[in-house]
Amino acid sequence: MRLPRVHRPTVNAALLLFALATGSLAESPATPNSPRQVDDRQIESSGIRKLTSKHLILVTDVPSSPEVDRLPQVFDAAVPQWAAYFGVNEQKTAHWQARAYLIGDRRRFESLGLMPPGRADFVNGISMGAELWLHDQPTAYYRRHLLLHEGTHVFMASFLGGCGPGWYMEGTAELFATHRLDEQTGALTLRIMPANREEVPMLGRIKLIRDAVAAGKLRTLPAVLQIDNREQLGNEAYAWCWAAAKFLDTHPRYRDHFRALSKSVLDPKFNEIVRREYEADWPKLTAEWLAYITTLDHGYDFERMAIDFDSHGRISEGAGGAHLISIHADRGWQSSGMRLEAGESYKVLATGRYQIAVEKNGDATRPWSCEPGGVTIEYHDGHPLGMLLGAIQAEGETAPPATPSFVQPIAIGLQATIKPEASGTLFFRVNDSAAGLGDNRGTLTVNVIGPQ
Ligand SMILES: [Zn+2]
Repeated sequence: MRLPRVHRPTVNAALLLFALATGSLAESPATPNSPRQVDDRQIESSGIRKLTSKHLILVTDVPSSPEVDRLPQVFDAAVPQWAAYFGVNEQKTAHWQARAYLIGDRRRFESLGLMPPGRADFVNGISMGAELWLHDQPTAYYRRHLLLHEGTHVFMASFLGGCGPGWYMEGTAELFATHRLDEQTGALTLRIMPANREEVPMLGRIKLIRDAVAAGKLRTLPAVLQIDNREQLGNEAYAWCWAAAKFLDTHPRYRDHFRALSKSVLDPKFNEIVRREYEADWPKLTAEWLAYITTLDHGYDFERMAIDFDSHGRISEGAGGAHLISIHADRGWQSSGMRLEAGESYKVLATGRYQIAVEKNGDATRPWSCEPGGVTIEYHDGHPLGMLLGAIQAEGETAPPATPSFVQPIAIGLQATIKPEASGTLFFRVNDSAAGLGDNRGTLTVNVIGPQ
């Protein structure tokens, strides 16, 4: 599968390119928020159709089909959603119309001078000002995805004057492009978390992240913020940009700051603004990012997976060195409130019975319950489903790799001894898919004894 590879011309560069390379049909040049005017009569005599809606002129040689012909309506449905998200008054967008070229046979567009000036070699999609170009795609989902991706760029370029640094530009475009179209009602929902692979044919972002993590090539959040799309980006880079934008846009602790960032797209110090906005939460954010990308899955439950750093589950402490903590089966990582010292030894004992899944068989449902050892007939991420896991949020940037972490938790089960190489706060969760916490019920009790 190929993902969009898009160059990132600045508005001025785009205008310059148009000035230098105006195609034979160009009658008036583009401005940052209006496309070039071209002679549509000549286009239409060349076997290229033009479909027009309120906000889009779609020029294409791809044969008519319901999926292709409704693209302008899909674009129209996205415009008010972009406007609301980016804080653009709808009156300003009322008469805005972008121009899209959906290309089946590129030679036809080349001969008419309709390819993007200076960028005719683009791979999947490209945008300049209020114009965008797409090569046709094998699936209806992915064709719309590309339109919405480039559409996000043209909307931002037209109304915000720019798209911000590479990671943010591509991250927001992928965020909006990942969508659901209700076949019954035609309702378009943008910024979704795909429920499964079948919902987003050819997208593959989640698998790319999982494969990178499995291969030890995970990117920290600061590393993702350095992704620069002035070079052609590979598929994996798009996946990281999307993962970051989706995380920051959805997580209850981080989303407000993220959504305000669109006001700063023209500020050359954009990434410094990001650091400043998240200053108070930065250690949590960077740690939580690692927990997120190592558990990323279709249907990821951001609300339940949000890490509880505040040790709400602490029951008692101190009596004979024992610390009792209550852990919810239906939540992600929960702080024990306990700091473990490097080199010391701690014993962890867990008890309780809780629901870890609901098996559906037709209309019948059967709850699965388990103890902290987990369900040994069903595995998830290499450990029994429901097994108690532990992690240490180490102090400092680099903990020794042998220390249990959000990336590589320790399997605790009914009991374990932890002897960390780095000091830090101890966290727990039960082993389950990040999409599977909604059908869990109950709690377990963890007793941490030590240092011994
Ligand atoms: Zn892009």
